[in-house]
Amino acid sequence: MKSKAAVMVSPYKMETMEIEVPKLEKDCALIRIELSGICGTDKHSFKGENKQYGGTAGEFFSQYPFIGGHETVGIIEEIGPEGAKNLEFYGKTLKPGDRVVVIPDLYCNNCYYCRQMPFYPWCDHIQGHGNISLKEWPYLNGGWSQYLYTRPNTDLFLMPEDASPEVGSLIEIFVVAYALDKVKEFYNFAGEGLGFGDNLAVYGVGALGLAHVIKARLLGVDKIIAIDRSQFRLDLAKRFGADITLNVNNTTAEERLETIRSATEGHGVDVVVGATGDPSTFNESLDLLRKVGTYIEVGQFVDLGEVKINPHKILSRNLRVVGVSDHPTFGYDATCRMLERFKNLYPIQEMITKRFGLEHAQQALERALADDVMKITFDPWKD
Ligand SMILES: [Zn+2]
Ligand SMILES: [Zn+2]
Repeated sequence: MKSKAAVMVSPYKMETMEIEVPKLEKDCALIRIELSGICGTDKHSFKGENKQYGGTAGEFFSQYPFIGGHETVGIIEEIGPEGAKNLEFYGKTLKPGDRVVVIPDLYCNNCYYCRQMPFYPWCDHIQGHGNISLKEWPYLNGGWSQYLYTRPNTDLFLMPEDASPEVGSLIEIFVVAYALDKVKEFYNFAGEGLGFGDNLAVYGVGALGLAHVIKARLLGVDKIIAIDRSQFRLDLAKRFGADITLNVNNTTAEERLETIRSATEGHGVDVVVGATGDPSTFNESLDLLRKVGTYIEVGQFVDLGEVKINPHKILSRNLRVVGVSDHPTFGYDATCRMLERFKNLYPIQEMITKRFGLEHAQQALERALADDVMKITFDPWKD
């Protein structure tokens, strides 16, 4: 059997290929993909910007050619007896016909971090679906494909029967928005971190930023300010809960600061979420915070270099800067239940701007770079 797949052969170049599906091993599974999104990281890889986990033992460069796609949901086509027992995230038994989300990260389960800090993907040998060379077994390592072949160290999340594939393909970014749960830790210190009724700005409301807007609303944040260069995305952010939207194309940094200060009694926001993936927004983001505010960096998953920073800015207001590179190995179940519970209030399937078949891979990636899109998704069975 062959699987059609969209392969990133080099920067700015996609090809649709037919790849032989390997024989199924007893501890593996074959997933028939329903949807697999194009993430910000994929867009960076498409532009040749592909250094990840820089400065760590797991420093990694995407290995062209590879089948992209790590926001992936599908139906189990076939599963080996060991895989049925071992692959599910929460210890459930799997069978053909089950709808599963393929968790992006693959860990070695042997390094110091896997053994000592197993609840977060710190692994020194981390790999990610949608980022592995096409030459590496089992070849079908990404979601932009009719089939994905999971290895024994894959985690699958069994979706509830009534959950939709759209939620499945979008859930990962909402799990990353655990970043907001993370900064709630600091609320134990009077007035720090994130708490009920706090004000928050999200700089960059692509899909990941928008997930933070929605999650912030669910967590009881008061004013939410969305900042972006795309009016299309800002309009969606407003529809999904932002109170104030600021377009960087028609406001100055001073005007944005002024707007945010006047919306917060002169203080600035309690939390800024940096989700632009653009280092040049870092300094301004710090300026938007009140004293003892918290900045969360969640967008710069790809290393795009340095910016000048005045450390006094951090000291003078006792700011806290928190990096979030991934998501913990829990959260899928809770996130799925909450997205289902609030699906009428937050119809997140509307975040999917357009679906492409695999034959149109080049067009899909080019479209994903535009400003007037939120999420572009592959439907591998569409023409
Ligand atoms: Zn991603
Ligand atoms: Zn490891």
